[in-house]
Amino acid sequence: MNIVVLVKQVPEIALIKVDTAANRVELPQGPGVVNPFDEFAVEEGLRLKERTDGKCVVMSVGTERTESALRDCLALGVDEAYLLCDEQFNDSDQQALAKILAAGLKKLGAFDVVLAGKQAVDSDAAQVPGAVAANLDVPQALFVKKVEAIGDGKAVVYRTTEDGYDVVELTLPAVISVVKEINEPRLPSLKGKMAAKKKTIVRWSAADLGLDGSGIGVNSTTKTVKVAPPQSRPKGELVEGESPDDIADKLFEKLRNNQII
Ligand SMILES: Cc1cc2nc3c(=O)[nH]c(=O)nc-3n(C[C@H](O)[C@H](O)[C@H](O)COP(=O)(O)OP(=O)(O)OC[C@H]3O[C@@H](n4cnc5c(N)ncnc54)[C@H](O)[C@@H]3O)c2cc1C
Repeated sequence: MNIVVLVKQVPEIALIKVDTAANRVELPQGPGVVNPFDEFAVEEGLRLKERTDGKCVVMSVGTERTESALRDCLALGVDEAYLLCDEQFNDSDQQALAKILAAGLKKLGAFDVVLAGKQAVDSDAAQVPGAVAANLDVPQALFVKKVEAIGDGKAVVYRTTEDGYDVVELTLPAVISVVKEINEPRLPSLKGKMAAKKKTIVRWSAADLGLDGSGIGVNSTTKTVKVAPPQSRPKGELVEGESPDDIADKLFEKLRNNQII
């Protein structure tokens, strides 16, 4: 089975700042890390590879700096890495990004499953996997917590919902985004890290993908109107008292005064 995992390199979240005056997000310098949710997608890709005696590759839209994230995936046992990289890709919104990835997947050729994280922790849109499936015109199952069965041109997966989960049968090829409950990602071995350093990362430009700039980069359809940090929550209140009964009475009083009970 041919498995492709979509991997985004993200900055370390704690270091991101919002410049409200300039209406933009300031990203920290440095190589960044593999989007945490994509680590679960890579692990699932490797498990499916082992389960089906298949091949697992990773693909990312990024810059030269993204190579480090792809090497981290190679160190885990991924077979190949593809970096879609071009100045024309700058300023791409989620729909544009999905178009670029779909072009990369089409160039790659035969694949059975495309795995992705449920969302990227920096932009948080959770749009790309569904949009990739739409671009490829293949089925999708998002927020998957278990791949129950896979093979013979179909997969049965558990898709997380607010109330529990749906069991979904998909024909392959399909796009599946995963949640962190799906597995426990492995750590790279020293041997894997050494081998990853020597592997070639395949680079494809817009021209390689047959993209002429329409609908991608500066021609994206989304326009950012405003950027602002989320409103801070009011501080919690600690109820103190002389004994547990006293604290319980005071808490009860507060809840009643605030018409919560
Ligand atoms: C108007 C506009 C302009 C933008 N300009 C820029 C810009 O100049 N530079 C920039 O870096 N960002 C830019 N962005 C943000 C960029 O569009 C998003 O980071 C990108 O589309 C991914 O969206 P997301 O982070 O919400 O991913 P989600 O949809 O939350 O990601 C879900 C999953 O999709 C996969 N995925 C997401 N992104 C990638 C990727 N790059 N490669 C492979 N797989 C991926 C991963 O598996 C991920 O877990 C812009 C956004 C907008 C709206």
